[in-house]
Amino acid sequence: MEIKITKTTTPNTMPPEDKLGFGKVFTDHMFLMDYSMEEGWHDARIVPFGRITLHPASTVLHYGAEIFEGLKAYRRADGGVQLFRPMENIKRMNRSAERMSLPLLDEQDALEILTTFVKLEEKWVPKSFGTSLYLRPFMFGNDEALGVHAVHNATFMLIASPSGSYYAEGINPVSIMIENEDVRTVRGGTGYAKCGGNYAASTRAGERAAKKGYSQVLWLDGVERKYIEEVGAMNVMFKIDGVVVTPMLTGSILPGITRKSCIEVLKSLGYTVEERLLSVDELIAALESGKLEEAWGCGTAAVVSPIGKLAYGDKEYVVGGGKIGEVTQKLYDILTGIQWGKVEDTFHWVYKL
Ligand SMILES: *Cc1c(COP(=O)(O)O)cnc(C)c1O
Repeated sequence: MEIKITKTTTPNTMPPEDKLGFGKVFTDHMFLMDYSMEEGWHDARIVPFGRITLHPASTVLHYGAEIFEGLKAYRRADGGVQLFRPMENIKRMNRSAERMSLPLLDEQDALEILTTFVKLEEKWVPKSFGTSLYLRPFMFGNDEALGVHAVHNATFMLIASPSGSYYAEGINPVSIMIENEDVRTVRGGTGYAKCGGNYAASTRAGERAAKKGYSQVLWLDGVERKYIEEVGAMNVMFKIDGVVVTPMLTGSILPGITRKSCIEVLKSLGYTVEERLLSVDELIAALESGKLEEAWGCGTAAVVSPIGKLAYGDKEYVVGGGKIGEVTQKLYDILTGIQWGKVEDTFHWVYKL
């Protein structure tokens, strides 16, 4: 594919790596490409980073046709840069697009966009372990009319943000509240799609939990309010009586690439992993009998996030003595080791630029 590149005349420099935080600093450029029914995807271009203009009737502003992805470019110890399973993100973005009636991307073109862009912005990939260049591809419906119909015009963009280590202060287990009121999505809805609307609908519960001193909510299914789904915007795993249990993908759960990678690593280490329905009653029983050994969230941002406390109704339970568990630590070490190029990539997951 042809990507027209217009370079900035006023390049910025990267702030100190320990001051990056997450998603606040952006690189010098951004990628854009337009879609129309007549022309398909066209006008692929990299331009200086800056504001974009939208028609006030643009579909995304009224009907929420928006999807996104999140992945990272990692700096290896040898100075090179690599991505982690980028094709998984591209395929998932197309599944999200299909659900939201947005146009699909050509997979090879999408990979070329990612690699061309990261190569151009290479100086923005930070060097310390745990830091990365966070990549945010996103797509939105961009018809300039208020009629409700499948999208005829869309825009695809890629922006990137150098980000600090998620665990700059060390890995501390988080406190989680089981959410009884709001639900994130329902089966048949958009739970498996990475769309902005899912986030808009779930922030209220997160805010309420934060006021009570919890960092995330544990979502229950939207139909029976009975089965565990996800924790905040991460997938969730439990080690119960020696077996790792994670909610099965029912359609309302986001199929995380970290989730998938954790399952593959665990199986390769000989652990039994069950992808099945897990009811909150079973979880509470495991907590009360002492059989819940470890609990953790998993996602690209944190890799794994140990859960140290779980609240349900007016009861609060400590998980694994409030410390990071053995399996959680092992997963963290192996996955970050592969991502930052410190551990041999026996799974062939990294994509070197
Ligand atoms: C992105 C996301 C995840 C994690 O997916 P990864 O591919 O592992 O980053 C989990 N749950 C939700 C709701 C998400 O949006």
